[in-house]
Amino acid sequence: MLLLETKLKRLKTLRKRRPQDAEIYDFHTALSQFLHRQPNQWLSFSTDLKSWDSRRQAGFPLLTGAELQIDPEPAGKFFAALVENLIELGQEGKSELNQIADAQKAGSIPIKALLVACLEKDRAPLEAFASELQIPSALLEYICSTTLAFGLQEWLKEIPRPDYSDWKKGYCPICGGAPSMGELAGKEGEKRLHCSICTSDWSVTRLKCSYCGNEESDSLEYFTAEGEAGYRVDICRKCSGYLKVVDSRELGEGLPMDVEDLNTLYLDLIAQKEGFVKGKRTLKN
Ligand SMILES: [Zn+2]
Ligand SMILES: [Zn+2]
Repeated sequence: MLLLETKLKRLKTLRKRRPQDAEIYDFHTALSQFLHRQPNQWLSFSTDLKSWDSRRQAGFPLLTGAELQIDPEPAGKFFAALVENLIELGQEGKSELNQIADAQKAGSIPIKALLVACLEKDRAPLEAFASELQIPSALLEYICSTTLAFGLQEWLKEIPRPDYSDWKKGYCPICGGAPSMGELAGKEGEKRLHCSICTSDWSVTRLKCSYCGNEESDSLEYFTAEGEAGYRVDICRKCSGYLKVVDSRELGEGLPMDVEDLNTLYLDLIAQKEGFVKGKRTLKN
């Protein structure tokens, strides 16, 4: 089944199960359909794929911001269409979205620099530009990371699949992103991490914090929410990081992890209320 179909089917199932959140599922259904209709191939990387073995062995992800290239015209069109779509879907912050749309029309949005900032998790350029436009930086970051994720995923379809079977880090081997979700899969309950930007997934040591590398079992715990089988939250008392985990042995394999992330926002609320933080990234583990 195509990824889009899998996603739409799962959104439909969850919408039925949680009618009180219908608005969220409808929004993401419409957004997925919109993204599927967009032309691609305006983003690429000048990365030398032959250097992958040495990069990977040194613990560096495949892609860096310095190698990101965009074709400005179609990239700008995509960006404008996305903002337009968010306005049509009734996304909150309509006046801020209109401001972004106007800035895009005036050609004043430094799209490439903002995409590089998203890839490198460098908030400063995003915050600086958001304050220039007097809009919340979270909104700008959302639009830019959606743009980056789309362009990156399309580009990855065009290159030979890089081998990263020996990668055990807590960040994505391809784009360096922090994992958005974890998964326990297969009979042995192998732990896999999923990247929200490029959708790569990779296998890691189960009893180890993905953020700080802590392996002391007495400070690694997890909690579940009542009545929600198949989901848990791994927490590390050493760095206060948390990771939501889907147990595919209970829920079935091949679930679209971005939808599972969306479906478990209540787990983020519980974890954050307890003082845990998601997506801490460190290059030390
Ligand atoms: Zn990634
Ligand atoms: Zn930790």
